[in-house]
Amino acid sequence: MDRRSITWSAALTAVAAGLCFVPLVGRVGFEFSLVMTPFAALAGAHIAIHSSGLRTATRRALAVTGPPLALMALNGLRIKVCDWGASLAFYALLPGVGAAVGAAWGRAAVHLTARPRRALLWVIGAGATSLIVAGWRMAFEPPIFSYDPVFGMWPGALYDEALGLPAPLAPARLTHLLGGWAALAVAHLVRTPLAQRSYAAAWAPALVLVTGTTALLGAGPELGFRHDRQSIARALGRRVEADPTLTVLTDRHIPPAETAALVDDIRWRRVEIAEALGRSVEQLSPLQVYVFRTAAQRRRLMGADRTAVARPWLGQAYLVRPDPGEILVAHELVHALTGPLVPNPSGMPWRGGPGVPGPAMGLVEGLAVALAGRDLGPGLHEAVAGMRAVGLDPSPASLISSAGFYAQPSSRAYTVAGSFLRFMLQRRGPTAVRTAYASGQVPPELQAQWSEMISGIEVTPELRARAELLYRRGAIYQRVCPHEVAVRKKEARRLARTDPPAAVAAWESIIQWDPGDPAHLLALARAHLVADDLPAATAAAGRCVAHEAAPLALQRSAQLTLADVQWLSGEAADREVARGRFEEFIGRMGRAPSERLVRAKAQATAATRSEAASHAVRDWLLGRSEASTGLLGLQRIVQSERWALPAYLVARRLYGDAQWTEAASWFGQARQLDLGDPLLAAENLRLLGRAAYRAGQPAIAAEAFEALEAAAPSEGYAEGARSWRRRLAWLGSQTRNAASPADVGAQ
Ligand SMILES: [Zn+2]
Repeated sequence: MDRRSITWSAALTAVAAGLCFVPLVGRVGFEFSLVMTPFAALAGAHIAIHSSGLRTATRRALAVTGPPLALMALNGLRIKVCDWGASLAFYALLPGVGAAVGAAWGRAAVHLTARPRRALLWVIGAGATSLIVAGWRMAFEPPIFSYDPVFGMWPGALYDEALGLPAPLAPARLTHLLGGWAALAVAHLVRTPLAQRSYAAAWAPALVLVTGTTALLGAGPELGFRHDRQSIARALGRRVEADPTLTVLTDRHIPPAETAALVDDIRWRRVEIAEALGRSVEQLSPLQVYVFRTAAQRRRLMGADRTAVARPWLGQAYLVRPDPGEILVAHELVHALTGPLVPNPSGMPWRGGPGVPGPAMGLVEGLAVALAGRDLGPGLHEAVAGMRAVGLDPSPASLISSAGFYAQPSSRAYTVAGSFLRFMLQRRGPTAVRTAYASGQVPPELQAQWSEMISGIEVTPELRARAELLYRRGAIYQRVCPHEVAVRKKEARRLARTDPPAAVAAWESIIQWDPGDPAHLLALARAHLVADDLPAATAAAGRCVAHEAAPLALQRSAQLTLADVQWLSGEAADREVARGRFEEFIGRMGRAPSERLVRAKAQATAATRSEAASHAVRDWLLGRSEASTGLLGLQRIVQSERWALPAYLVARRLYGDAQWTEAASWFGQARQLDLGDPLLAAENLRLLGRAAYRAGQPAIAAEAFEALEAAAPSEGYAEGARSWRRRLAWLGSQTRNAASPADVGAQ
């Protein structure tokens, strides 16, 4: 090795040594490779500038990336490496290819200027240009992922997901490598004396490499490493120009009726948001909404998987096939529409403060939460009152800056910021809210008034129990390999439906692999329950309840699983014990779906019905019945027993399957037969209204929401019902927009 390579090798190894003790980055894998890539590229370029030719330079550059890898592999004795195959592939494709690309750039620079120092500056300048282009594209084109010669790959918001080796990585890196060689060939040609340039041999390499690189870049959308608004529009295939300021791009496989309902949803939400802000629709940002068919499609085309994304500075939102009326649509639209309220190009209020200035996320998210409204559970202010009763509420002022906002658990930060902005809107009106939003400053005396209002709210035991479950900081487990655990969990969940014994085995192996997380124990208990091994289910749920790291919500779910086991044991006395448990937990489950489920179970255990009927309902509620035969069984029970609960369960399933007309009819039956429990009855009305709307029965929908508003068990339900009634009235006054969806031709 030459002296320069030895120096670089030592420097890169020192970087790796520092990373050994950083979580996530301190093991061979994607994160480590990502951090090493720019260093490897710079080392490659510097070494190449002082080498005699490309081959020597590349060999030396690659050699330099070996020692840091060896060191990090040794660190693997201390910290488990997840998947050696994928991890080494990441290292080869990111820092490995990075070093080779750097070497090519270095040689190209040397051809253009013989002075080494100037050559290095040229390479650094080229790298910076590449980064600026990548940053520009991330800001102004839909994708939030990026493939770039300098850092290799940024995967977007897939972080919580299983991150395997993405298919576009290899072709992207091939493009970067060919691009480097093409630059070298062109530089070489430029340096060739004019007299010799006529030889084909002088032209051929440059021509071939430039053509190859251009072709690969052109195929970027097909290969998946480069997307922009045109390529995404083509991949989605349908464009609806609802009016001059609203474009909706949707996947062409989404049925036209659903697309039309979605466009109506967006149009209505825009009217609702504009009214709340005291603006006309024209005063808000022109809107572009991308609607993907699945989360996987959104991940492929723009890099966001589970996270919805909006860009206030572009008036864009990116959603996955939302249900019309979903709160998330309104939330993202608030982000996308409110750019013009702010006098800066980011479209978001800014805030200085300790550290770097940044967007005032408390105002950004608070406004979205305040305007999007709620359609379940307590109202915003009540939720905060519950939070305060258990001593977990942050002050709104501490949430305004980005740093303050993200320092809190998101469940608290979003709710408190939303309540505060809602209060500002109610107390001071839209003009004051717009002023605060534009300036990033809130009136100083408002917080005290808000606080006083919150303190005046009576906190029911139910509100308090809910707050205890929802707003405690979740325990942070030292995950062995977050990506690997995510992959295994996905597989275990898939097995749960098809092969219960295999699901049990899968969860057992996950627990062995990652013993710190008590949630796995609950999943194991559920798997045993479905596989009919009741003693094992009891044991696993018992271990979960007793686990010292189990948060309250998890403990409660595990206790309920114990009650489920009792219910399944079949004896009348056991059923009574189970019923006692379910009733005890009513009003104490926190999240709305868990709360509804425990109420349904309490009702199912209390009912005196034929044995066949109660077993069918029980197996359905415990997730043990086969989907289609179970559904038929429930339908028969409704007729024979005149029982509302199975009708509601049937309707929910049909609703989930987008069988709107049938679902509406079954919700109607459940309503007539009387569900008894006020929360289940309210949910029944809410879904009846939505199903009827989707089935093209606006009168039935309007009547259902009217009834829901009158009998709402909580402020959330009342608010949702009011919004739906206004929406239906507005829709009735509109002639359906004339624009029919146009399929975007493949150009
Ligand atoms: Zn948001």
